[in-house]
Amino acid sequence: MSTKYNEYFLLTPGPLSTSDSVKEVMLKDWCTWDDDYNLEVVQKIRKGLVALAGADTDYTAVLMQGSGTASVESVLGSVMDENSKLLVVDNGAYGARIAEITGYLKIPTQVIELGEQGVPDAQAIDALLAADASITHVAMVHCETTTGMLNPLEAVTKVVKQKGRIMIVDAMSSFGGIPIDVQGLGIDFLISSANKCIQGVPGFGLVIARKQALEECQGRARSLALDLYAQWKCMEDNHGKWRFTSPTHTVRAFDQAMSELDQEGGVAKRHQRYIKNQTILVEGMQALGFKCLLDRSLHSPIITSFLSPNHKDYQFKTFYEKLKEQGFVIYPGKVSNADCFRIGTIGHVFPQDIEQLIVAVEKAMYWQRA
Ligand SMILES: *Cc1c(COP(=O)(O)O)cnc(C)c1O
Repeated sequence: MSTKYNEYFLLTPGPLSTSDSVKEVMLKDWCTWDDDYNLEVVQKIRKGLVALAGADTDYTAVLMQGSGTASVESVLGSVMDENSKLLVVDNGAYGARIAEITGYLKIPTQVIELGEQGVPDAQAIDALLAADASITHVAMVHCETTTGMLNPLEAVTKVVKQKGRIMIVDAMSSFGGIPIDVQGLGIDFLISSANKCIQGVPGFGLVIARKQALEECQGRARSLALDLYAQWKCMEDNHGKWRFTSPTHTVRAFDQAMSELDQEGGVAKRHQRYIKNQTILVEGMQALGFKCLLDRSLHSPIITSFLSPNHKDYQFKTFYEKLKEQGFVIYPGKVSNADCFRIGTIGHVFPQDIEQLIVAVEKAMYWQRA
């Protein structure tokens, strides 16, 4: 295993394997009031995130405590008012979760239920928007981590913006790992988190917001702690200060992770590495007889669902343990109508590691020798 602190790679959709240097910067304590933290760390991160989004001063970045879901909830609860209605694309657990959140918040919501292997259709969304003027916002997941499908972000955002609606994107598992021209597309709110493709550790989420759209959100929030507008205002007016205790060590680790992303050559280069990882994975697994759930053309380079072997002796748990012993942790499936397991190809994981994984998978195929 290639790092000092881990006995195994986390081939999961996050938290994922981080570099030793990202872990090591967490050894120092930080004062949330001091400029060393707010100016040198938080403000630097916020600026860097806007640049990663391909945006300029029309956009801003807000950081929010909690796991990624807290940031999704923060956006939904803070940007929609009593006259708003949301259209949600649901082709997996994370799309479904958006509708679950608006259910809790009692926000009128229409769900496009496609099933986990359904592909969102921009034309159909266009027609729905044309037919229902009461829909004010549209939300879609970019990489649906349930299956690994990459949803057609550009086409969908284009119709949403042409129809003058607000576009909310859950890019949790893609931002930083797949280039996204947030400003060019006109995305209003894009949500991601610290522990996915930017390769930080868990503890907070991030929202890239079009300033004009965010400025309209004063007083709308349904929750004090998750008030996106208030969090933004505080960070703007107090040079990076969070309203309530921020996860300082995690934030410092994220700053280091952002530097390492830059050293790697930015998002385009990281994207290339993830593609290489996933190509080696899929080709290696196919050579061993495994089949992907999705057609290759629908895949993201982030995570891949494989159909479980159709053999009476196969059990995920045993397979998992045999891979873990060899230094690789994989992920259970999340698809409801197909028996799958998933392997992530993001994090501090490189093509040679995936080659080693394929060797380990072959050794772990105990049912073939039963
Ligand atoms: C990881 C992820 C989330 C957030 O999950 P948390 O467990 O709350 O961090 C949301 N959407 C997608 C697409 C994800 O991959």
